[in-house]
Amino acid sequence: MSRHRTYLDHNATAPLRPQAAVAITAAMGVCGNPSSVHHEGRRARAIIETAREQVARLVNCKPLEVVFTSGATEANAWVIGWGEWTTIMSADIEHDSVRGSVARASGSHRALTVGTDGLIDDSEISKYGAAAVEAGGRTLVVLQMANNETGVLQPVAATAEVCRNHNLHLHTDAVQIPGRMPIDFAALGADTLSLSSHKLGGPAGVGALIIRDGVKLASFMTGGGQERRRRAGTENLVGIAGFGAAAEAVNADSDASTRLAGLRDRLEAGLLEMSPSAVIVGSKSPRLPNTTSIALPGHLAETMVIKLDLAGIAVSAGAACSSGKVGASHVLTAMGLGADAASNAIRISLGWNSSEADVETFLEVWGVVTQPRAMRAVA
Ligand code: PLP
Repeated sequence: MSRHRTYLDHNATAPLRPQAAVAITAAMGVCGNPSSVHHEGRRARAIIETAREQVARLVNCKPLEVVFTSGATEANAWVIGWGEWTTIMSADIEHDSVRGSVARASGSHRALTVGTDGLIDDSEISKYGAAAVEAGGRTLVVLQMANNETGVLQPVAATAEVCRNHNLHLHTDAVQIPGRMPIDFAALGADTLSLSSHKLGGPAGVGALIIRDGVKLASFMTGGGQERRRRAGTENLVGIAGFGAAAEAVNADSDASTRLAGLRDRLEAGLLEMSPSAVIVGSKSPRLPNTTSIALPGHLAETMVIKLDLAGIAVSAGAACSSGKVGASHVLTAMGLGADAASNAIRISLGWNSSEADVETFLEVWGVVTQPRAMRAVA
């Protein structure tokens, strides 16, 4: 017997948008190597170039600045690992794909301070940046646009200006922005930006690195001439087609931010009414309109996620991008929020198919699983 499920974990992965499913199915019927000159090859090439234009519209960049990758992990690894940086600056709130690559990189690392509000102290960038420039070499600053666990938005445009003044390369992980908020690469001023298709309703295993026109970065893989010689290998036609269609669906949904913020506000008001001792992480900072990170004292996140799952609701404990991860959130720990908040925070993330009914269902179930007597009944 199938039970109704309420999926509120869009920051882990978003359900496939119908437009993406249609594009994927159509692309699966196309047999042609996009590099071949014959009719079939040109058909495949046209699909890729259409998707490139759709992704370029998504972030307001030039199509030639879009390089398709296997996802944002690859895009982050490319910039961090291939740039021959002497110094890298980043904060511990970054996604594991950034932290892992920074840990492997050969240059020295400057850890940026993060406040309990989830925001970096951008004065450190000019301070460390000036010192790094004086010492010589190439310096990379990595700063995410939005945190996947808390939704806190970093001051990327202001940081870009500081980086420009000191001649530092700014890479931003913008994975959690599309579908939640508009994004304008041309105005932002970052040098490179990573995207992931499955966070916006496209398929997983495809993403993009946006490289500002004129910025030099060694090719990620060499061999074939694909992606203007920046990433060799026959393109993932089906995935790219789905990514492009999902991007176009986002482009057409101009009300998404307002709609999501309305749902999120109703959700948070309902949660705080039932659980006044709960803490919403980063609630005083600029945040994504779709993400709530909430810690309820005395309720371990792992246990809450299981109880909610048994009641038909999918949410995450901290970052659940890599499955099976348990323990305190590295993001909340980096924010200095203490072991309790870091172990109790669950993440509720809304998206393109979330409805008022989903929010009401969540609140009803929350009321049950957080009541001591009812908790016994559910357990
Ligand atoms: N960056 C952020 C902020 C994420 O949330 C994720 C999600 O897993 C990634 C990077 C990695 O993206 P991908 O799954 O496309 O490798």
